[in-house]
Amino acid sequence: SGTGRALLELTPGISAYGHPELSFFNQPDLELALREALGRAPGVELRPGHDVLGVNPRASAVEVTALDRAGGRRVRLDAAVVLGCDGARSTVRSAIGARLRGLSSPRRWLVLDTHREGDQPGCFEFGCDPARPWVHGTLPGGRHRWEFLLAPEESAAELERPAAVARLLEQRGHAGAEVLRAAVYAHHARVAERLVRGRVMLLGDAAHLSPPFAGQGLSAGLRDAMAAGWRAAGVARGRFDPEVLAGYGTERRPDAVRATALAVAVGAVVQTGDTRLAAARDLGLRAMLGLPGVESWVKGGGWRPSGGLPRKALRRASGRSRRPGEGRPLPQPVVGTADGRALPLDDALGPGFALIGLDVDPRAVLDAGAIEELGRLEATVVTVVAGTASAAGTAPPAGSTLPAGSTPPAGPLRDHQGHLREWLGTSPTRSLLLVRPDRLVLAVLAPNEAGPAFTRLRTSLLRPRSRP
Ligand SMILES: Cc1cc2nc3c(=O)[nH]c(=O)nc-3n(C[C@H](O)[C@H](O)[C@H](O)COP(=O)(O)OP(=O)(O)OC[C@H]3O[C@@H](n4cnc5c(N)ncnc54)[C@H](O)[C@@H]3O)c2cc1C
Repeated sequence: SGTGRALLELTPGISAYGHPELSFFNQPDLELALREALGRAPGVELRPGHDVLGVNPRASAVEVTALDRAGGRRVRLDAAVVLGCDGARSTVRSAIGARLRGLSSPRRWLVLDTHREGDQPGCFEFGCDPARPWVHGTLPGGRHRWEFLLAPEESAAELERPAAVARLLEQRGHAGAEVLRAAVYAHHARVAERLVRGRVMLLGDAAHLSPPFAGQGLSAGLRDAMAAGWRAAGVARGRFDPEVLAGYGTERRPDAVRATALAVAVGAVVQTGDTRLAAARDLGLRAMLGLPGVESWVKGGGWRPSGGLPRKALRRASGRSRRPGEGRPLPQPVVGTADGRALPLDDALGPGFALIGLDVDPRAVLDAGAIEELGRLEATVVTVVAGTASAAGTAPPAGSTLPAGSTPPAGPLRDHQGHLREWLGTSPTRSLLLVRPDRLVLAVLAPNEAGPAFTRLRTSLLRPRSRP
């Protein structure tokens, strides 16, 4: 608060998905790592230094024209699918005629990147000081990110000056730090009115722009990539009906709208500049956190967008109401393999569709028709049994990751602490979990329901000529 009192403290831990609930990193480091990984992936040819000029959707392909900056010549490509990840000023978005809907805030923030040798990542702070709201986080490598709200009468040029920057840092006990970047930004809360047209999809900032307060800009983009990747791969391989791509927009747009609304709400709390309003906010927040269950809900992250499937999409796919676990991301406990290794569950499932039998071997309870359908879906079939308690939890052990393309381990997987069963918390008769490649649980089924559910999924995905 403006008086320096902590209004709320959150202590993020390891999430049910096997990863830290909060991660700080320098975005260019992540981008470099992704680019290097892409360069090593089989069948990938990277062509840096090309500017996409136009995207022209056709019936059975998309024509892309680009400028090769080094050679100064135009190139033309026919693409089975185009993923428009070209940022806030997206050429692809304009090409498919998708306008951004929403608002741009008149408030401006000075964003400072600084460096102080030896500083370790620590807590992320929102300074709700009505005199000058600020945000601070320490990243790896001694880097700091600071954000300071500009008063309406202050100019960007005035606050970006080294003397003004030094004064702000000194006020926050950060005098003498090396300043790497100082730039003023306005925030946008906008989502494209459509994310898909034919074989063209929009991802990341091309699809949605969010104020940074909830850390959702990049995160929502990563969720887009999870939802788009398997669909695009299936269409590019000629297995999936291109209509499948439309489902990406239906699923991802509501999540992007929710993530953006959350960031706007957090921003409204942080950037209150009126002293009386700020005092009322502080009182209100304390009172709200005192209500039964509210503080634990906030600390448990119940307010975060889950990236799950909308109820409507689930109902359309299954013809019934949602069961517990359906449409949610699958938790990722560390599981023990029959040959004594410990693996994060995702690694054991492999990259495609998966059917998990909880305390039951799916092959022993499914009929021949259902097993044949699983084969057509190229699904991995595993059994997960709740084992005796051990040290295994949700944090992946170091060096446990299976190399991409490895065969899933043979034999049942042991969920030592029964995380999956506890999470599902449902009747033991519905013990089959049908999981999508992006690790969202599509259906929780009893054995006699499985065959028809697999057939529905297959007919909704596969092109007629891939069907038997
Ligand atoms: C100050 C600030 C703070 C932020 N803080 C956070 C945070 O704490 N947490 C968080 O999750 N997010 C944060 N974000 C948001 C995050 O940086 C973006 O959401 C993220 O970079 C979007 O990634 P993207 O790949 O969609 O777009 P970009 O990162 O914009 O990448 C687009 C790429 O497309 C390329 N490109 C553009 N046009 C063309 C073309 N015609 N042809 C070929 N290539 C093209 C560009 O060169 C670029 O490489 C912040 C953003 C800002 C500005």
